[in-house]
Amino acid sequence: MKQHPLLLLVTLTCIPAWSLQADAVNGGIALIPLPDSSIAPEVWYHGQRVLVTGHDGHWQAAVGIPLSQSAGDDYLNITGSSNKIPFTISHRDYPEQHIFLNNTHQVNPSPDELSRIHGELKQELDDFAVFDGTVDPHALNLTKLPVKSNQVLSAFGLKRFFNGEPRAPHSGLDLKAAEGEPVTAPASGRVLMTRQLFFNGNTIMLDEGQGLISMYCHLSQISVHEGQLIQAGDLLGYVGHTGRATGPHLHWSVSLNGVRVDPRLLLTPALNASLLPH
Ligand SMILES: [Zn+2]
Repeated sequence: MKQHPLLLLVTLTCIPAWSLQADAVNGGIALIPLPDSSIAPEVWYHGQRVLVTGHDGHWQAAVGIPLSQSAGDDYLNITGSSNKIPFTISHRDYPEQHIFLNNTHQVNPSPDELSRIHGELKQELDDFAVFDGTVDPHALNLTKLPVKSNQVLSAFGLKRFFNGEPRAPHSGLDLKAAEGEPVTAPASGRVLMTRQLFFNGNTIMLDEGQGLISMYCHLSQISVHEGQLIQAGDLLGYVGHTGRATGPHLHWSVSLNGVRVDPRLLLTPALNASLLPH
């Protein structure tokens, strides 16, 4: 049956708002109201397409703000409009974390390893920048975690020091999990890539639509293949400690418009409140 165009429009604009705790801070997600228009506008932030959804008959953008972004005024661009959409970013401070690794190669890699790492990082940035506008994201109001434990081992955004040396901040959420425990998809999507990486070990990335990409690292085993369509709850692989990991756990990253944000922001308030700190 062919749907009447108007009916389709009503359906789209009635998508309920998700309950993420939006906050225009570095490492957060800003929810920015957009001017009314009959179809979803194409919105850009720092040259990247931004996720747009309907709320109360109006459009809004869910914008990932980089951890490195300083406080101050910023703006979105809309295709076909010369008006910028301004918003203000506040500063959030994240605590320090000191980690000791016996494997010094993973703190100060050799030149060969460094060139491998740079190649992998470039590929990772390209993967995080993917924007598939044909998929409606369902991952914005998660009711389940990718592992059964709700204990956080390492929060998002921590300023990290490996063997005393400053390194990149923690770009995901580490959840407690035993070696071999199943990792399941918290939302539907498509497998963007499966790879064996120097730091992240056996890794899966899922494309959940409109630039919302999630990543699962340090797996002992990968059970999906690139291009595979995934439903919420499907098995992705098994927990491990491959790559740079002090022990078995799940590192879970979430990215919007090419920017890593705190995965906790996608959880329902009840699920978020149930997480136990380390
Ligand atoms: Zn981690």
